Amino acid sequence: MGHSLDLAELKALVKSDIDTQHRQLRELSLKIHSNPELGFQETKASSWLAQYLEKNGFSLERGICKLATAFRASYGQGKPAIAILAEYDALPKLGHACGHNLIAASAVGAGVAAKPAIDRFGGSILVIGTPGEELYGGKAIMADRGAFDDVDIAMMVHPGIHDVATTQALACQTLEVEFFGQAAHAAARPEVGINALEAMLQAFAAINSLRQHIKDKARIHGIITDGGEAANIVPAHSAGSFIVRAQDDAYLDELKQKVINCFIGAATASGARLEYKWGDIRYTPMRNNLTLARLFSQNMQSLGHKSRLSDPTRAFGSTDMGNVSQLVPSIHPMVAIAAAGEGVHTPQFALAAASEAANRSLLDATKALAMTVVDLVANPEIVIKVKEEFQKK
Ligand SMILES: [Zn+2]
Ligand SMILES: [Zn+2]
Repeated sequence: MGHSLDLAELKALVKSDIDTQHRQLRELSLKIHSNPELGFQETKASSWLAQYLEKNGFSLERGICKLATAFRASYGQGKPAIAILAEYDALPKLGHACGHNLIAASAVGAGVAAKPAIDRFGGSILVIGTPGEELYGGKAIMADRGAFDDVDIAMMVHPGIHDVATTQALACQTLEVEFFGQAAHAAARPEVGINALEAMLQAFAAINSLRQHIKDKARIHGIITDGGEAANIVPAHSAGSFIVRAQDDAYLDELKQKVINCFIGAATASGARLEYKWGDIRYTPMRNNLTLARLFSQNMQSLGHKSRLSDPTRAFGSTDMGNVSQLVPSIHPMVAIAAAGEGVHTPQFALAAASEAANRSLLDATKALAMTVVDLVANPEIVIKVKEEFQKK
């Protein structure tokens, strides 16, 4: 009985601690929102977050994994080591249109609030600052450099348009393509030209045809970054950036080859020479730990949210949290801060990420994260269950 009383008391304590932090968390979130920094340039955001954690009794290591804006804050030393991940990068031109300012504030708030649970039951809480989520796969780099080697469980929350405890995220890889042709006067001597732009357009057409016959939820999308110099010169060079995504790693491999075949075909047809390079970072699909997701969902429900376990109608894009989820049991729940029509990566979502409604959702998500830490450190058998689920393929 004493034990269950402890649990309820601790959860109440954690919630009131977050209410006490509320003004500072809002201030942090808004400050990051109004100072948007691109991936790996988040010097202000990472130092504000690290300072906040240090001031609240965490031990800080800055610039971990040879990334200047990454950090690791820890409280306690024992097992389980539970990591809460903070993202804080913004998008080019759109600012905080993915709401990472809210992720950052919730991570530090939950970490600080969970301290009494560590004091009471042992274990340790880590708040890991993971920069460069958009485009650069910061967590994938950090995973390769050992950032999660001693972590037992990893959690974060991401703002969105639904309350969902699991996230569908696709495996993905970027692709840079160039065609090299032969310049010529487009009217006077077109017969000696080799048109690199036409090669690119044919590749797009081939990909568009391919798209009819690919598996559900796979995605291929791209832009042309060089399409020639002038209308009266046969383009000698063209370039494009593409992203290929699939629901699992095996199909991503298959699809990558099919996409490359489209470019090879276009090169053959046009006579242009093809060069391509796959991105160094490959995002892996999100593996949601359902034991963890259920705990988080129950805690959100106890705060009055209609948090569902999954929403099969929607696919997320891709996230580098997927790479973390392949190494340690993880969750990446979504918390609604905007209306259904205002998804992430839009100017509307950037506005929503600074709204009062977002702030309220942020507080609840922060509470649910910290309450989930309480559940885990107070119940070693749940941690075992989380790990058993993770071991099963
Ligand atoms: Zn994003
Ligand atoms: Zn995001």
